[in-house]
Amino acid sequence: MKSMPARIIALLLFLAATTFAQPRNFEAEIRAAQQAAKTAAGDEFLGSLVRTCFLPQSGGENTADTLPNYVTNPASAPARATWFAEPAKVFDNLYFVGGKIHSSWALTTTEGIILIDTIFPYNSEVLIEGGLRKLGLDPKDIKYVLISHAHGDHIGGAEMLQTRYKAKVVMGAADWDTVASYPNRYKTMAPKRDIVATDGMQIKLGGTTVTTWLTPGHTPGTLSYTFTVLDRGKPVNVVYSGGTAFNFVNNTPDPGIRNFQTYIDSQRKMGEKAAATGATVLLSNHSEFDNAYNKNRMLAGRGNGPHPYELGADEVQRYFQVLSNCARAAQIALEQKAAAPGR
Ligand SMILES: [Zn+2]
Repeated sequence: MKSMPARIIALLLFLAATTFAQPRNFEAEIRAAQQAAKTAAGDEFLGSLVRTCFLPQSGGENTADTLPNYVTNPASAPARATWFAEPAKVFDNLYFVGGKIHSSWALTTTEGIILIDTIFPYNSEVLIEGGLRKLGLDPKDIKYVLISHAHGDHIGGAEMLQTRYKAKVVMGAADWDTVASYPNRYKTMAPKRDIVATDGMQIKLGGTTVTTWLTPGHTPGTLSYTFTVLDRGKPVNVVYSGGTAFNFVNNTPDPGIRNFQTYIDSQRKMGEKAAATGATVLLSNHSEFDNAYNKNRMLAGRGNGPHPYELGADEVQRYFQVLSNCARAAQIALEQKAAAPGR
């Protein structure tokens, strides 16, 4: 038998491939993204993994302008034992003044304090003001307050710190707008519109610089940061991730697929900034994501060992890989929904 010319074989193979192409196996794609996230998480980022890959997502964003219970009735705020944590000196010039679950950080300079995130209205006095004093610092020295995003667990003390200490408040444009649009939701928490962060903006104080990066996703105005701290005199680069959970509309393909893309792009971007600045420390505003509460308690036993927060540049990258892959898994699920709307 005469063999078929190569060109015909190629054509037949092409037709077979296009005619019998497998439909996308969405479940397999989702599993692969989740597996990649789990591998990246290792045992360092289990909190981030669980929150973004495996817990049910919020589905949408909050558009109600209602007064929080802890504002209308302060007695309804969670009991002190559920949130109180001791403050800690973490690096030569970085102090933890947050709680068990939510974090606040004080970066000290020769000309005052840059404070990052301010927890709730009901515990910012005790944890931030009280914590600074306990550590021998003076809240009057707070010159800047950086808010990573306008949710009550991070903006809660901003109005109080701006009013009492004339601190300059820095936030993303979209989140300033959110604060202005929801007067009830932000009652007692809303600082007067002040510095609008731009991408790559440098907040400078006493020889220390914090660079703000626009990382929309968790909220439209979410900010992340890069800065340098000192560990027993040695410079250590930090990347601060400003928003982690999928808080945006994510239960319908439109706009969910787009929203996930915005979020994924921000994770990639911060991964790149972390690499470019040589970040070996990953900080967040929730202990769930950076283990701050546990690491603070490890500091006392450090001796001459490595700093418990110092993960190394590769491990820092893994945090952003966890979030991108978990977001990708959720995005694929929406692509599946879009492909078969009745399901
Ligand atoms: Zn939030």
